[in-house]
Amino acid sequence: MSYETVFYALGTENTITVEKNDKTGAVERAVERVLEIDEKMSAFKETSEITKISRNAGKSPVVVSEDVYYVLEKALEISRVSNGAFDFTIKPLTRLWGFGSGRDCVPDISEIICSKAQVGYQHLTLDANAKTAFLNKSGFSIDLGAIAKGYAADETKRILMEEGIDSALINFGGNIIAMGNSPGGSPWKIGIQNPLLDRGSKALTLEVSGKSVVTSAVSERFFIEDGVRYHHIISPTTGYPALSGLLSVSVIDDSSLLADALSTAVFVLGMEKGLELIRKYRSEAVFITEAGEIFSTYKLN
Ligand code: ADP
Ligand code: MG
Repeated sequence: MSYETVFYALGTENTITVEKNDKTGAVERAVERVLEIDEKMSAFKETSEITKISRNAGKSPVVVSEDVYYVLEKALEISRVSNGAFDFTIKPLTRLWGFGSGRDCVPDISEIICSKAQVGYQHLTLDANAKTAFLNKSGFSIDLGAIAKGYAADETKRILMEEGIDSALINFGGNIIAMGNSPGGSPWKIGIQNPLLDRGSKALTLEVSGKSVVTSAVSERFFIEDGVRYHHIISPTTGYPALSGLLSVSVIDDSSLLADALSTAVFVLGMEKGLELIRKYRSEAVFITEAGEIFSTYKLN
């Protein structure tokens, strides 16, 4: 018998599934931890540390918690190594496109140019001694939507493991950690969605033990205007949804934070440059191209 806990946080539905009845309260503690991370890192909550940094852009450094400092450090690293394909200062563009807000129309090109000028990870300064974060240009703002879920999943895993839970399935809006093996003792089976079909239709299934699988795809959040599909992963270079020849990329890694950030970076970079990044991190990836081809560095059955 398995026990499933479902809760809403980080802008999505999350589930933690454990096999034995958890009498230690580990799952409950993990949920509280995720809510705490959401409070600190949400770009939508007025009181979050991330909102505070954005509000103080061009004005003053903000003292942040260990959590936020750690995630910003990692976000900065991935922004640098991906040459800005991943950019956590993407907020002016994600706000403009407004995926999930119900606006669902293509912004004016002049607005896109304006917002694009307010994106650039180089404008964040972190001070390790003072534990501060400073956006040195006004109008700049942060969106951790492509990395925070991964961090929250890693923290959930850590808490469950501390209590001796070594088999569980963590699914934060498609950001998955398959802890240990499935109840029968075989690897977990993780379905990768066919990005052009309805939710639930699988393109392939991965067998995974003790790793995270995170997918960035055209099917997560999108709208269609004049027959063109506009999705929520934005190229910081063009200001438009990234067109890199990929429909979906899934990254398989020990770290869910890394898998999360890399999946977004690789989606923007496309297959060739994306593969270089995957190799650099000794990570693994499954790509689905626009032609419908599947290319994988991970063993498929
Ligand atoms: P999802 O959040 O659907 O699982 P991703 O991990 O790829 O998918 O994250 C997409 C989110 O990341 C967007 O909703 C937006 O908040 C943010 N984002 C979009 N484009 C970029 C980008 N180029 N770099 C960093 N973050 C991005
Ligand atoms: Mg991501």
